[in-house]
Amino acid sequence: MKRLLAVLSLIITLSLSAQELKSPSEFLGYELGTRFTRHHRVVDYYQYLSEAAKDRVQLNEYGKTNENRPLLLAYISSVANMEKLEAIREEHLKSTSGTGKSTKAIVWLSYNVHGNESVSTEASMQTIYALLTSKQSYLENTIVIIDPCINPDGRDRYVNWYNQYKNTPNQLNPESKEHHEGWWSGRSNHYMFDLNRDWAWLTQIESRQRLRYYNKWLPHIHVDFHEQSMDSPYYFAPASEPFHEVITDFQRDFQETIGKNHAKYFDANGWFYFTKERFDLFYPSYGDTYPTYNGAIGMTYEQGGGGRAGLGVITSNGDTLTLKDRIAHHYTTGMSTVEVATNNVTRLNEEYQKFYQPKNYKYKSYILKGSEDNLRTLTQLLNEHQVSYSYGTGATVKGFKYKNGKSGSLKTSAKSIIVSTNQTRGTLVKVLFEPNAKLSDSLTYDITAWSLPYAYGLDAIASESLISGTSKAETPVKNEVLNTNTYAFLTDWDGMDDARFLAELLQKRIRVRQAQKPFTLAGKRHERGSLIITKSDNDNKAEFTKILSEVADKHHKLLTAVNTGFVDEGKDFGSGYVQMIPAVKVAVLAGKPTSTLRFGEIWHFFEQQLHYPLTVLDENYISRVDLSNYDVLILPGGKGYESFIDENTLSQLKEWVSNGGRLIAMGQSIASLDGENGFDISAREKEKDSTAKLVEPYETLQREKMKNEITGAIYKTRVDYTHPLAFGYDNTYFSLKLGNDSYDYLEGGTVAYISDDTMLVAGFAGSEAQKKVSRSLVFGVEKHGNGQVVYMVDNPLFRGFWENGKLFFVNALFMAN
Ligand SMILES: [Zn+2]
Repeated sequence: MKRLLAVLSLIITLSLSAQELKSPSEFLGYELGTRFTRHHRVVDYYQYLSEAAKDRVQLNEYGKTNENRPLLLAYISSVANMEKLEAIREEHLKSTSGTGKSTKAIVWLSYNVHGNESVSTEASMQTIYALLTSKQSYLENTIVIIDPCINPDGRDRYVNWYNQYKNTPNQLNPESKEHHEGWWSGRSNHYMFDLNRDWAWLTQIESRQRLRYYNKWLPHIHVDFHEQSMDSPYYFAPASEPFHEVITDFQRDFQETIGKNHAKYFDANGWFYFTKERFDLFYPSYGDTYPTYNGAIGMTYEQGGGGRAGLGVITSNGDTLTLKDRIAHHYTTGMSTVEVATNNVTRLNEEYQKFYQPKNYKYKSYILKGSEDNLRTLTQLLNEHQVSYSYGTGATVKGFKYKNGKSGSLKTSAKSIIVSTNQTRGTLVKVLFEPNAKLSDSLTYDITAWSLPYAYGLDAIASESLISGTSKAETPVKNEVLNTNTYAFLTDWDGMDDARFLAELLQKRIRVRQAQKPFTLAGKRHERGSLIITKSDNDNKAEFTKILSEVADKHHKLLTAVNTGFVDEGKDFGSGYVQMIPAVKVAVLAGKPTSTLRFGEIWHFFEQQLHYPLTVLDENYISRVDLSNYDVLILPGGKGYESFIDENTLSQLKEWVSNGGRLIAMGQSIASLDGENGFDISAREKEKDSTAKLVEPYETLQREKMKNEITGAIYKTRVDYTHPLAFGYDNTYFSLKLGNDSYDYLEGGTVAYISDDTMLVAGFAGSEAQKKVSRSLVFGVEKHGNGQVVYMVDNPLFRGFWENGKLFFVNALFMAN
């Protein structure tokens, strides 16, 4: 009887809460899956749940997007767990130091990182509703954290677009407009960055805000919900090779455990799926790998559909795929994931502790020195990842030297940074810093090299022994009150802080000169590119020194005051070798010729990194724009230039450059400038592949093709550092090569290039591709009439994380003619 009562009361509680809580369909006023839900309504539903079931749901607005949409996390668990949520979190985190006794599983479900993979957020609503009603039992020992939409700006862009173009009723024919989103798709965020490539680099505001909370929890399991092409069956774990070598046997095994549980449900429903293909675990900036390298079972789930499927579409098999189907599949894998967690709480906790036990990695410490700007930016990134570091003691350290790829040594100073693997985030440190990550299979989905010492252009040693350093309080740079009678103020030029300093001064109408040659003054050497801000150039500016010192402090620049323009060695300040830096007016091409990602990188760079105005000129009206209003025009990389740059456009561009314009041609736009009536740049034809005629088995064709590919590899290149495009660099630049495009050296103006004595240092480059890019141009400048064309074959702005390439781009904007 007692038992019966208990059961009865349980049934009553369950049905009561089910009755009390509105389902998504009841709340929204339409059946889930019959419309796309705009973000503000999704927010409304989550807010409603956090009030109607406030003892089991906590909602946290963790930030805002670029377009000011709220970013949310919902914490869901049993009443008992929610009452001590903070204590549960603390106990869980103790496991990273081996002392935790947690008896709960932490599952984090992230939806809709790609905005037009539009099913995810809808599925999240059904998932949270089920967790609060029919599947409450999962929550006895599990905390579920749901991010309903990582990328609301992209998602609303898609949803608004779809609502504008959809047929009524919706059209299943895949040829109809509602299935063709066009160039400005909803996949990426506001700045057209792919947020699923940004977990490690944190260039985007969404990523930075989210990671602060992710790091507070470091869950056992993280799922990133996606969509792929509409004809693909569902993909879930286990992932495909290559797996990064730090991934543990348990992490591999448990992917399989989860996959098999999903398969049980998919089999019962007769749904198709695949595993172990296409989606690998290597590049560290994904929503599956980053969590994996931090101890989680990190997974990507891919439904077929994405921006093409709309509310319903006929697939190439002739089947009809509806939004409701897509919701059902993502809902099923989400619930199945939580179910597996619930049934494996003890094991998850044990193995999680093991992941964080000290690992005996080959390299114990990474020691870095170089540009203060780049070091500062790197420490900011490390802070975001909760990676600790110390500073050099003056000792000399030995180990693998990144600059030459051999063993060598480096003398540390108080400014050198030491990052070691004997810390909680040691595995992440290894993944981000090691010179060359071991690649088990070259068929991968993404770039194969990212080593931070190269990306930040730092002189670095990987040491096999643990190097200890000292801690140091950050002291903000503060200039003393500047004397208004000083002849000139000087500062160096070697990083993005300098670039931001210059950009702000130019906008405040402070005139700045730049030394074209090194000089020595008052016993101090100043390198090429040093900035010279003189009193007489700025005599007409009230409060000149006050503005100057404020801007300098803001950008961590310590100014050197000098009372003469008469140098000890080099060129005096009145010389023609000291050039005024123009406050250039810059425009960028947008639209179909360009890739949204490549365009977005430039857009973001100007507004969020350099803080300098940019005019966006769309391809469909740029021919009617008077280009003489602009000093610089940037052509972002993209595949659509062949039809865009016809003979007319080319001759217009040539005339504008002749009259003094500066064209910056990036990536694939360069090829369109080559040719009989084009500029001097000359694309190198593909080397004849001597093995191409051999019969290859059909099965290995894809692998054979890899011989011609470079999938994001790091090349050591030579630099002509006397050229204004290279001010701030020495004779070496490590470039991230993203393809096998290859151009001959320019006659004069070959600034960065692959030479006979430079080489591939990390990542995958196929044998034929390596031949093709030998002795080829990386960055160069062609003089044409009164203007110039700057060629950037490699992309220094790629995903915003190649810190050491950015100054080349800034030089391309501001360098003297
Ligand atoms: Zn995706």
